[in-house]
Amino acid sequence: MAARWTACLAALLALLPQLARAQSKSELLDRLVRAYPDALSAHDDTTITWRDGTVMPVDDGVSGKSFDQMLRNASILDQMRQPYPSGPSAPPAQNVDPGRFRNEAFFKKMYGDCNTAEVGRNLVTITWLPRSWGKPVQVTRVNGVAERLRQVSAEIEALDPALRAAAFPIAGVLSCRAVADTGRMSMHGYAAAIDLNLKVSDYWLWAGKGESKGKTVPYKNRMPREIVDIFERHGFIWGGKWYHYDTMHFEYRPELLEQ
Ligand SMILES: [Zn+2]
Repeated sequence: MAARWTACLAALLALLPQLARAQSKSELLDRLVRAYPDALSAHDDTTITWRDGTVMPVDDGVSGKSFDQMLRNASILDQMRQPYPSGPSAPPAQNVDPGRFRNEAFFKKMYGDCNTAEVGRNLVTITWLPRSWGKPVQVTRVNGVAERLRQVSAEIEALDPALRAAAFPIAGVLSCRAVADTGRMSMHGYAAAIDLNLKVSDYWLWAGKGESKGKTVPYKNRMPREIVDIFERHGFIWGGKWYHYDTMHFEYRPELLEQ
């Protein structure tokens, strides 16, 4: 009898990690659906459903992917595998790049393909930092990104001039190109990312790092915390929280910020 109970208990204990994983997967998908209310309507254990009825698998069935495989071929669930630390945080550990895993089919469906007219149809013009800089910038209106960037701009205008200077002139929004080390479309291809002042920006590829030679990337940043905080409050993650950092870069990824 005791042996049978022990066996039962052992079987239950063996199940626990799977249960924990299942809960966290469901929680991640809840967050994803909540983060994009205009686009997504529901999820179950294996799919998300878009408001137009399209159903997409959340997993590609490939387990044990390497970091490079996740960068190049992320599933929808992979996008959220690394938690993004909002607020103050230490320099990221090696290969901690929360937000750099992106499922191309997901974002193309969301914002369109910049190689066709799809992205262009949703572009609207906003004025970035009307009092400090005042130039027109074209951004997507999908998911309210344009309106959110207007609010970010207004809040940056209220900062001290020395801090504000990091936010203009901007280096760009829409750019239909792949990310250098992933071969996948950047969030700039969807007009849902903005690069701020190039003169105060640091980028891992410029750091003379030579990862191939087995060196680690030395972290550098000159982007003020106050600007990062404003973007995060409006649903944009910051490239300065990546091991492969890009400190002028902000992209709209509310699923990684919502608690
Ligand atoms: Zn960028």
